[in-house]
Amino acid sequence: MPRPILATIHTAALRANLQALRLHAGDARVWAVVKANAYGHGIERVFDGLHAADGFALLDLAEAQRLRALGWRGPILLLEGVFDARDLELCSRLGLWHTVHCEAQIDMLAAHKTHEPHRVFLKMNSGMNRLGLRPAQFRAAWARLDALPQVDEISLMTHFSDADGARGIAEQFAVFNAACGDLPGERCLCNSAALLRFGADAQVASDWVRAGIALYGSAPDFPANGDWGLEPTMSLRTKIIGIQELQAGDSVGYGSTFMADQSMRIGVVACGYADGYPRHAPTGTPVLVGGLRSRIVGRVSMDMLTVDLSDAPQTGIGTEVTLWGRSAGGQLLGIDEVAARAGTVGYELMCALAARVPVAVDAGTVGS
Ligand SMILES: *Cc1c(COP(=O)(O)O)cnc(C)c1O
Repeated sequence: MPRPILATIHTAALRANLQALRLHAGDARVWAVVKANAYGHGIERVFDGLHAADGFALLDLAEAQRLRALGWRGPILLLEGVFDARDLELCSRLGLWHTVHCEAQIDMLAAHKTHEPHRVFLKMNSGMNRLGLRPAQFRAAWARLDALPQVDEISLMTHFSDADGARGIAEQFAVFNAACGDLPGERCLCNSAALLRFGADAQVASDWVRAGIALYGSAPDFPANGDWGLEPTMSLRTKIIGIQELQAGDSVGYGSTFMADQSMRIGVVACGYADGYPRHAPTGTPVLVGGLRSRIVGRVSMDMLTVDLSDAPQTGIGTEVTLWGRSAGGQLLGIDEVAARAGTVGYELMCALAARVPVAVDAGTVGS
């Protein structure tokens, strides 16, 4: 028997989340962001649930090749553009659209030999100070691109640093519009948080939105607003493989970080940080045992963690434990809640799912 741990990817939930985000996006087209192997889900596993998207956005050329190998002939956008002049050959061959965020990428394009001119997304640094041309350099870059025979259509793009937080997008949106409001071309501004919180303004949602985390059922602004009606797309389930009866004063796990103050039952669960579960999840982090909420006690170790079974007398070896997502019976434990207890975000937990965890695809209905 293999270890009982299994991650399940829910195709119907992906489809439902894409549909829900379309309602927020109005007339804008939706990029399904599938970077980092579809946020840990697996590009091949999410393709069926997301193929109604208008395009796929990612940053690894090998992932773009995998999408073409799946038969996707629609738009693919490289969110960071090319890393090397040779990447442009692959863009020409696979028909990839690419971001241009710096002058060096324009130099590479100017030297590139191609029969098919490329569609590019020119990116402005409107305040996040990661990738992008400064507002003062943006027009000159646009004019340079516009003059290149290697370039077809130019779209305009920026990325918000605080779409999920108190600062919001107003300042960056104003900087962007002031610098390029009169330039022609389609706009692409929103990530999930900007779309959900500010996308009702058609100027903000504009022509394309880049939806990542919300497609996977996680709320980008949890806990301020944890409930956008999104469905979890990944469930991580395993089983109890051992039971311990503690007396008052007994401790559990490495470092004896948890000590029983009365007699209690402990379940030993086949999941640890080598499976991608966060080691920093403290005592009290929620889990579902047989579909009912319980809590982790003691330190998460490499292959196991321990849970409190005091209120779950019917449980024993073989009882199902859900670390996040839905239990087999349909009960929900949000990945955002687990992430928050561990001092991180749902994004990191999804992406960290370890290669040793087997993954199944559930093609059934939403909520099962
Ligand atoms: C990852 C990424 C997104 C998607 O962000 P989410 O918060 O997951 O929706 C959008 N735009 C860019 C440039 C990105 O790198």
